[in-house]
Amino acid sequence: MLHDRDRIFTDIYGERGSGLVEAQARGDYDGFKDLILRGREAIVEEVKRSDLRGRGGAGFPTGLKWSFMPKQTDGGPIYLVVNADESEPGTCKDREIMRHEPHKLIEGCVLAGVGMGCTAGYIYIRGEFIREAEALQRALDEAYDAGFLGKDIAGSGFDFELYLHRGAGAYICGEETGLIESLEGKKGQPRLKPPFPAMVGLYGRPSTVNNVETIAVVPTILRRGADWFADLGREKNTGTKLFCISGHVNQPCTVEEEMGIPLKELLEKHCGGVRGGWNNLKAVIPGGSSVPLIPRSICDDVLMDFDSLKNVQSGLGTAAVTVMDESTDVIKAICRLSKFYMHESCGQCTPCREGTGWLWRVMTRLVEGRARSEEIDMLYDVTKEIEGHTICALGDAAAWPVQGLIRHFRPEIEARIRAQQDEAQLAAAG
Ligand code: SF4
Repeated sequence: MLHDRDRIFTDIYGERGSGLVEAQARGDYDGFKDLILRGREAIVEEVKRSDLRGRGGAGFPTGLKWSFMPKQTDGGPIYLVVNADESEPGTCKDREIMRHEPHKLIEGCVLAGVGMGCTAGYIYIRGEFIREAEALQRALDEAYDAGFLGKDIAGSGFDFELYLHRGAGAYICGEETGLIESLEGKKGQPRLKPPFPAMVGLYGRPSTVNNVETIAVVPTILRRGADWFADLGREKNTGTKLFCISGHVNQPCTVEEEMGIPLKELLEKHCGGVRGGWNNLKAVIPGGSSVPLIPRSICDDVLMDFDSLKNVQSGLGTAAVTVMDESTDVIKAICRLSKFYMHESCGQCTPCREGTGWLWRVMTRLVEGRARSEEIDMLYDVTKEIEGHTICALGDAAAWPVQGLIRHFRPEIEARIRAQQDEAQLAAAG
């Protein structure tokens, strides 16, 4: 569906080299000074017109988010923070950018910095990303040496410092305010909002947190124009997207495709199809572990974009597609996710701290069928008590997979309970 001429990430598989020379040969930093000189308003306007939505999961319009940053300042620092924590299970796209096309991210940081009037940026990278951090630091050093970072960037008169900061490996540090706390040297616990980071962010200063992919696509949008980007995909779901596909497909991969590609086409064109054929498909988690799974009947014709997946009560999230074939114990798979969210809860709010553990314990019994049928409704009710009642979205992330399971696989849960009851009766009868 996506033509090579419309590809933003032209070396996502790292075949041509990640250095500055190679990056420039691919078009990075082309007309860099002119892009900077377009100035704050023009950059934000172009990004707004492109309809770019954040690639980190929530899908909030990027240009609009940038426009929340204060126009009048007291002369103190203003920060761009790049979320390179990428900890959502199944998600493996940002690491490819940082390893193979780090200069796209750096160029994007400078242009986002101009767009929001930032004085400095921090890239908060997941601690386990050793090679990615090395590649990114190399690229940062090259950019400083070339005059693309620091004072008077590319002779434009714009100053911008960019730092790499390595995290210590907690999922919750991928939540924007948890990330800010961690960057400040504190425990990575999300903050209550408001105030939002655009008003009180890093070190109490106006800040915007953006995902790696979001920032890395900005230079190409500015160079090729908002209309080009907006022509790809569908209305409000524009542009290209990195999809990372894992699980029961013949060739798991990360691939850039047009937003709104049918899920079936994505899997068949790039992944060699579902293991054992399409009819062997049981379910797909389409956007990282926190979004509800969808069964094959929905997978048949759903489109991979924010609104299409929302319409089927799931989400595009990070576009991490986890494919499960008929051999999958889907109850056990979701139970494993419940355990993950219980483990990663930071413990600040009761519905999340207590609720995630409660979900996991009930899910553990459901895996073995050791439950009563009424408990399925009770489990669903508890997810509804968690959803929307917590400081950050981890509560929702824990609730949604369980809701998706009950919505689509209730007969399987009930059958397992009945089988366990039959077995118990047989055993009792001796
Ligand atoms: Fe912490 Fe969970 Fe509350 Fe988020 S929802 S702040 S992870 S306890």
